[in-house]
Amino acid sequence: MTRIAVLGATGSIGTQALEVIRRLRRSGAELEIVALAAGRRVEELCRAASEFSVALVSLRGPEEAQKARKLLPPYVEVFHGQEGLEAIARHPQVDVVLNAVVGAAGLRATLAALSAGKRVALANKESLVIGGHLVMELVRDPDQLIPVDSEHSALWQAMRGVRREEVKKLWITASGGAFRDLPPEDLARVTPQEALSHPTWRMGPRITVDSATLVNKGFEVIEAHWLFGMSYERIGVLLHPQSLVHGLVELVDGNVIAVISEPDMRIPIQYALTYPRHRSPPARRLELAGKTLEFREIPWDKYPAFSVVVQAGKEGGTAPAAINAADEELVAAFLAGRIPFTAIAEGLAYILERHHNVPCPTLEEIETADMWARTESRRWMRDRFGPTIV
Ligand code: NDP
Ligand code: MG
Repeated sequence: MTRIAVLGATGSIGTQALEVIRRLRRSGAELEIVALAAGRRVEELCRAASEFSVALVSLRGPEEAQKARKLLPPYVEVFHGQEGLEAIARHPQVDVVLNAVVGAAGLRATLAALSAGKRVALANKESLVIGGHLVMELVRDPDQLIPVDSEHSALWQAMRGVRREEVKKLWITASGGAFRDLPPEDLARVTPQEALSHPTWRMGPRITVDSATLVNKGFEVIEAHWLFGMSYERIGVLLHPQSLVHGLVELVDGNVIAVISEPDMRIPIQYALTYPRHRSPPARRLELAGKTLEFREIPWDKYPAFSVVVQAGKEGGTAPAAINAADEELVAAFLAGRIPFTAIAEGLAYILERHHNVPCPTLEEIETADMWARTESRRWMRDRFGPTIV
């Protein structure tokens, strides 16, 4: 029996993971959920905890934990905060940690799980973006860290049986996000509602906005760099409006291995949980007849944030942590209607320019850079857009 902890269980990936596990269990798979963690959605988390009869639960803070204790039977152990996430991630009753927390808050749990020898199914790409060197030095066996992100799941599958020296380049695809077909001069006036309607994927709010700016694609380039040990020059991005081909491995002899599936996160989530086996599809079967696949060069000038993010990846050190934290703040301000969409890229460029990089940072140095970037980006927003920005 594989015992799973789902962190970020109330989110877009988390709830789809619960659905996948429910279905796998019905079809006889030897999986059980033993621990669940979330942030503020206490009732949702407690409902899932009761359904799966879990023994361990963690919430964002002491108040949420207090509320959960009242809703759960007394035998459930309730943790909270970063320590709670870490306690679950390294708990002896857990074999696999599916980390679907959003943002920098996911890093410590990834590190705790890996150091305790657990397998990690990683949706929280920020773990690799901000702490790639710390994460990768804890991976003892190559199958210990399995990507959930669809592009990386595709590359992971395409790379099976391929030698590193036979790979010329890795390619990931981008749908182009909500504003793919909008002229660049209209971007300053788009609303949060418009940014949240992604053409092909249904995801949490931050990653949906990050898809519209292409910050998400920049993060995915950094994620691929760490996961596959490839230099930035050997990771390319293609605009692919249909979101059917997720990742491609170009080999030195001219062959290209592509992984194609319906754009449905339940597929990579399931694969990360059943790896190395493929089981019956959790989503609609892909019907290729009648489908068109288009690939284009990204119109880079329309997506200035992408190159800022990749530049931070190339600089390494604490630069990606600063950029990630600034992006969390800028996206939250945009979603609250306080800054225009185009300010996200502007703010990121400002933070990268101002940041004093610390090479090969410790976890504490990463967290200091994160805090600096949050304070500095809030200050920048106030200076630029007025005192109503908090
Ligand atoms: P959501 O915003 O939908 O969900 C985030 C989850 O994290 C929620 O369960 C939330 O809890 C929880 N959470 C947030 N902060 C904390 C905290 N401090 N402590 C504990 N739990 C916390 O995000 P997504 O599901 O969209 O994304 C999750 C991760 O997966 C991100 O890193 C994203 O980049 C990645 N990803 C997502 C994809 C998608 O399709 N959604 C695709 C590929 C990658 P609560 O809501 O209860 O506050
Ligand atoms: Mg992705």
